[in-house]
Amino acid sequence: MKIEYANRIHQIPPYLFAEIDKKKAEMKKKGVDLIDLGVGDPDLPTPKPIVEQLKRASEDPRNHRYPSYEGMIEFRRAVAQWFEKRFHLTFDPETEILTLIGSKEGIAHLPLAFVNPGDYVLVPTPGYPVYRVSTLFAGGTPYFLPLLKENGFLPDLSEIPEEVAKKAKLLFLNYPNNPTAAVAERAFFEEVVAFAHRYQIVVCHDAAYSELAFEGYRPLSFFEVEGARELGIEFHSLSKTFNMTGWRIGFAVGNARIIGGLGRVKTNIDSGLFQAIQEAGLLALTQFDTPIPETIQIYQRRRDLMVEGLKGIGLEVDAPKATFYLWVQIPEEYTSTQFATLLLEKAGIVVTPGNGFGEAGEGYIRIALTVGEPRLKEAIERLKKIKF
Ligand SMILES: *Cc1c(COP(=O)(O)O)cnc(C)c1O
Repeated sequence: MKIEYANRIHQIPPYLFAEIDKKKAEMKKKGVDLIDLGVGDPDLPTPKPIVEQLKRASEDPRNHRYPSYEGMIEFRRAVAQWFEKRFHLTFDPETEILTLIGSKEGIAHLPLAFVNPGDYVLVPTPGYPVYRVSTLFAGGTPYFLPLLKENGFLPDLSEIPEEVAKKAKLLFLNYPNNPTAAVAERAFFEEVVAFAHRYQIVVCHDAAYSELAFEGYRPLSFFEVEGARELGIEFHSLSKTFNMTGWRIGFAVGNARIIGGLGRVKTNIDSGLFQAIQEAGLLALTQFDTPIPETIQIYQRRRDLMVEGLKGIGLEVDAPKATFYLWVQIPEEYTSTQFATLLLEKAGIVVTPGNGFGEAGEGYIRIALTVGEPRLKEAIERLKKIKF
């Protein structure tokens, strides 16, 4: 029989990295020593005490059974405690906090609770691809908000047409931002709250990089702004903070009705997160000061080394205040894909073309600082030999 995919599968935007992936595989096969600055996945290990806690917790038969849907109350209490310590904000672990199987899982399911077919969802571009795809899966229509350098990579809410704003149900934001590495300040969040309140829009703030900030800078929680609790949900992740991308643990914090909506969806799809991982996560949130100074120091040295190197060869890049990404403007005569291909073919360096994060990412490449200093130095040496 002919097996047909549902329309929503055909709606998924084309995979823009296919060509580069192919080339990457070819070069690997040829034995080229590739330096991979493409993936946003920490190369550093999870801190030992967290791993030890997982070992212990996995031996406990009580953890071998189905976990609770909304997450262990002990883990959610640890989240509340961490939020209080880090942002001086109090949330009720019973109704305002939800454990997630990684924050991507929660972000992907959120539109199912709030978006009806035909509704608009406001989606930043360039941006994390999940916002757009989860909107499409829920039958919504993404309305793209360009993040432009002249606006500090913040969306210009005044540019959103009235009729779109009126039909919008959800607004996605992500600061510190992937891929631009931009940060948001209080004035912007205040503007967001006023806008969302006027048009009755749920705000979903993805704060995956809130604990990866340099030189004492502390990114804000969206909830530090008055009125945000009435209309917001914020996604946090242990992935980048504690080098735990493989573990799949995150959480959402926010308005009880919004948390409840996401919980309703999840109850019908997954059966919670392995309790031993939650116990390890609990230890992470209670035993470490975040941002973790040792981790920040490592990324900061890599950032400085790479920014200086890139500037030295004439590329335009600002040293970011947060995240482990560099968002690098490329010479005008290239497209993002052409430039990424050039770096791969001529220098064996893998970077992500900016247009892979949406059309507004054209003209940029994203460099992830997820390899050690010797390799970054080697990358700079190789770049010096290319003419562009
Ligand atoms: C890495 C990342 C996440 C975190 O995903 P997890 O599912 O928690 O691992 C979320 N949002 C953005 C923008 C990211 O880059």
